[in-house]
Amino acid sequence: MKAYTLKRRKNTEEYHLFEGDFSQELCTSKKESICKKMDKSESLGNTFMCYTEDKARKRIAEIGRSVCGVCTSHLYTTF
Ligand SMILES: [Zn+2]
Repeated sequence: MKAYTLKRRKNTEEYHLFEGDFSQELCTSKKESICKKMDKSESLGNTFMCYTEDKARKRIAEIGRSVCGVCTSHLYTTF
């Protein structure tokens, strides 16, 4: 199961999604966002972390359009 972390980007104030894996109660997240437009070092902080896909979808729907479209659409794609 994948773990999702949403981070807010400096300057643009746009949110991007980072994918990772669950490990015990915590999770990992990649260095780059799903859309590859944001690096971890550009983060203002985590909006949420270690969410499941379903939970992440709901939360992103609440936040609305400040979340990056590329990152959001990834959650609706089944591999
Ligand atoms: Zn993005």
